[in-house]
Amino acid sequence: MRFAIDIGHNLRYDTGAIGIKPEDELTMAVGTKLSELLEKAGHTTIDCLPDSAQGLKDSLAKRVRKANIAHANVFVSIHFNASSSGKAYGSEIYALSRLGKRIARDVLDEICQLGYYDRGVKSANFYVLKHTKMPAILVECAFVDSAKDMALLDVDKMARAICQGLIGEVPLLSEKTPGKLIVTHKTLLKPSTEQSGYISKKEMRAIDPGEYQLLNAEAEEEGHFWIEIKGIEGQWFIFSGHCQILT
Ligand SMILES: [Zn+2]
Repeated sequence: MRFAIDIGHNLRYDTGAIGIKPEDELTMAVGTKLSELLEKAGHTTIDCLPDSAQGLKDSLAKRVRKANIAHANVFVSIHFNASSSGKAYGSEIYALSRLGKRIARDVLDEICQLGYYDRGVKSANFYVLKHTKMPAILVECAFVDSAKDMALLDVDKMARAICQGLIGEVPLLSEKTPGKLIVTHKTLLKPSTEQSGYISKKEMRAIDPGEYQLLNAEAEEEGHFWIEIKGIEGQWFIFSGHCQILT
């Protein structure tokens, strides 16, 4: 899979929170380690941190563009939190899409196993979540101004937990009873939720009408399914108007 790794801030006009430790330093350390772990596990990573930006909006837009152009399968933005009171602590993850929220939950479970307080999976219209074309999560690993969190923080363990949440034992698709896919029109299978116009032909797979054995299927938003077909490698996104799923 292709993971777009967005190391938060670290730019002029886009600097992170300052607490007991600076957010910039921590997002850089965790994001770099996370990319290394994903690559080691055989995945591709896209570094979304731009070289420079003319302002905050430009910084965010460039990050999103990098992920979209690379057709990443999942976008992961790494941040650390700060609170005005200095009393908040724990870990939380933001996501908007259904699949994003599921990935967020898996990642948060892993992080919280390290001892961080579980602040939950949340939704907010953050620019990078709204404008990326793939499932996206924004991880607020811990609070930079919490003595408790900063004492607990081990960059390697944090990166490992996020990596485990992304690619761990938890499959991307649920293990329902496999069913049958009845394709009623010649149609294209897509490798992601992006619109066809943004996906190169090479990455899509045409299938003819007929019956196919499914290994996995899950309904996704807007009348689409995520499916895994026996004999056709990988997980595909298909428009439900062109098929029927019998379980
Ligand atoms: Zn941040």
